[in-house]
Amino acid sequence: MNESGCFKKGFRRSIGAVLKAVFPTRCLTCGSLYHENPALEVNPQEKPLLYPDDDLGFAREMAPFLCGDCSSRFVPIDSPLCTRCGMMFDSRQGEDHLCRGCAQHPKSLARARSLGVYEGRFMNLIHAFKYSGKIQLARPLGRMLFQLFLSQWDWGEIDTVMPVPLHPRRLRDRGFNQSFLLVQRWPELSESLGFAQKNISVDCKTLFRHKWTRPQTGLNRNERMANIQKVFYVGDPLKVVDKRILVVDDVYTTGATMNECARVLIQAGADEVHGLTLARA
Ligand SMILES: [Zn+2]
Ligand SMILES: [Zn+2]
Repeated sequence: MNESGCFKKGFRRSIGAVLKAVFPTRCLTCGSLYHENPALEVNPQEKPLLYPDDDLGFAREMAPFLCGDCSSRFVPIDSPLCTRCGMMFDSRQGEDHLCRGCAQHPKSLARARSLGVYEGRFMNLIHAFKYSGKIQLARPLGRMLFQLFLSQWDWGEIDTVMPVPLHPRRLRDRGFNQSFLLVQRWPELSESLGFAQKNISVDCKTLFRHKWTRPQTGLNRNERMANIQKVFYVGDPLKVVDKRILVVDDVYTTGATMNECARVLIQAGADEVHGLTLARA
């Protein structure tokens, strides 16, 4: 960037800081007005990505959208958890291990991980993103999801990222696929980290949803599994043969949706299917 570009950018940032100090921000989940905590601000130029081993990572990413109170109530999914489905164990002691459900009924998903517990303010935040069109949240949520991905999978372990598809009618009504928005910038992020040699590819043109399903909300485990059967199909099997695929969605409730995606992809020839979501019930 040339000198005048830098100056303009610096100037814009200073103006932004002054405006923020004068005018409070409205919290996207509780609706209260708040002033952003300047201690949480990070210059994106200096730190293009993320805050490894930083307990304030969530608060930093969310500072422009959530008040301190809402931010502090976020509960990250943490070890000890199930090595396969990612379920967090009630006991906070001990090592990760296979949960009873996964030991008794092996799932199609090789490994599933999530960012936080689907409750309270984090749930409201996801609803604001998904149902109230607050798509500006896709950027920070997508970055945090990418960070989680980097911490849980080795680079090169995944060939393709596929957002869980919406039915065309739902896509038309909503105007966007929230899962796609979460991963849309991943190729850019991986490039900014110098992973350009084997850039991650995002594919939203291979896995489709062809059956209209009623929303999974309010259904029990068996109803969810029945509701989601024969919902997905693979358009071009050549795109999945021998591939290690990461399926991304907003919420993992019983895992019915993700496991059905995995089953269909494996049937079409995928080598392995993994799953990543923002939240987990
Ligand atoms: Zn709030
Ligand atoms: Zn499990």
